[in-house]
Amino acid sequence: MSIREKLLDLVFPPRCPFCGGPEQSVDGRGCPRCRDADLWIPLADRVTPGEHYVRCVCVGWYRDDLRASVRRFKFGGRQGYAAEYGKALAESVRLFLPGAYDCIAWMPVSAQRRKERGYDQAELLARALAAEVGKPVRSLLVKVRDNPPQSSLDGRARRDNVAGAYAPAPGAEAPGLRVLLVDDILTTGSTLEEGSRTLREAGAAQVVAAALCRTPEQKKKA
Ligand SMILES: [Zn+2]
Repeated sequence: MSIREKLLDLVFPPRCPFCGGPEQSVDGRGCPRCRDADLWIPLADRVTPGEHYVRCVCVGWYRDDLRASVRRFKFGGRQGYAAEYGKALAESVRLFLPGAYDCIAWMPVSAQRRKERGYDQAELLARALAAEVGKPVRSLLVKVRDNPPQSSLDGRARRDNVAGAYAPAPGAEAPGLRVLLVDDILTTGSTLEEGSRTLREAGAAQVVAAALCRTPEQKKKA
């Protein structure tokens, strides 16, 4: 927990990370208030197919309370949310990706962004998930180009924006690896596709993906 988080906890006692309500989340399922709310994607819709990754599992909808939660996690210094996020993600990963991966990696922010923010939110998520499912975490990707935020673009422009933005991490050996690649949000899938493509080119045998949330308007692949 960061000093900033400790100070925040003094002023604002811990709340449910998902809805921000006064009761605490238990086992990554949220507090009693949000457990049955429409924050969560119905089980039947949690898995989406990919091109360079086999499939991606997402837990909640990136809107309303969950959107605000992820923004506190990324921009508000609430790194501590990673533990409950990891539990939430682990439940779906166990259900939908059993036996599909040997290690866990993440979609990194650039070195510059990491320096500004003080942490990489997808790495925190990957490490929290790994602790839950008992698999090793590997730093397999680096972001080599600081592209404009994906949220400012759509469709084709998002794919072009991330093309070549990632590279295999120096010294990271991917041949034959089956990787679970983690990110915080899935929108069109362009970012996770680019990361997966990079890993496959580096020799990874298979990539599956997981993201905490998915935008409701995400289009199904044709
Ligand atoms: Zn809640």
